[in-house]
Amino acid sequence: MAPPLDLLLDTVAARIIAAADELTALDSAIGDADHGLNMKRGFEAVLADKAQILAKPPGEALKAIGMTLVMKVGGASGPLYGTLFMTLGKELPAEPTVADMGRALSAAVEALKARGKADFDNKTMLDVLGPVARHLASGNASFASVRALAAERAEATIPMKAIKGRASFLGDRSIGHMDPGARSSQIMIEAVCDVLEGKA
Ligand code: ADP
Ligand code: MG
Repeated sequence: MAPPLDLLLDTVAARIIAAADELTALDSAIGDADHGLNMKRGFEAVLADKAQILAKPPGEALKAIGMTLVMKVGGASGPLYGTLFMTLGKELPAEPTVADMGRALSAAVEALKARGKADFDNKTMLDVLGPVARHLASGNASFASVRALAAERAEATIPMKAIKGRASFLGDRSIGHMDPGARSSQIMIEAVCDVLEGKA
């Protein structure tokens, strides 16, 4: 069965928009207090373009979402989330299995690493997206295990010292706060799980 792109888009966008204050609060601790606003602006633009986006085949629709995010989110996270969606659009077949999702997300993680010149354990969104990609590709993923892993990996950024992005300017003072991009990635993953499991 093809994934319900319409509901996926509405749910991911609604959850990110609802979390704007939380994401901005996280970014105010270790950044410049704009991650929630950036993401809200990006997903509001995606929703405004929804009819045009959904008129395209699924791969092209994901690429269009990525392009809109690049243009509207701004900051460091705009090009990175743009790359994520564009790579998913390129890699996902029309009716993906869980293994396909793992492969496509792994390709997106590699593209993100190259784009941001970052690696795992740098206290970024990669610390959620990378482990979830590997878990999906492992063949042992359930909705519950994916949700739990994403939450655990977002929490695991709290004791990390930031090596990349604005938070790295703080050095040791970045320790003790959850990375805002890790949290926004977790929120998106949870939204996708909820839709695919019929709970959204
Ligand atoms: P900015 O840092 O430009 O204000 P945002 O606040 O929107 O942009 O996004 C910050 C988030 O972007 C961080 O929490 C982190 O997860 C992610 N990020 C920043 N730089 C990188 C990078 N080089 N690689 C991967 N993720 C990054
Ligand atoms: Mg910021």
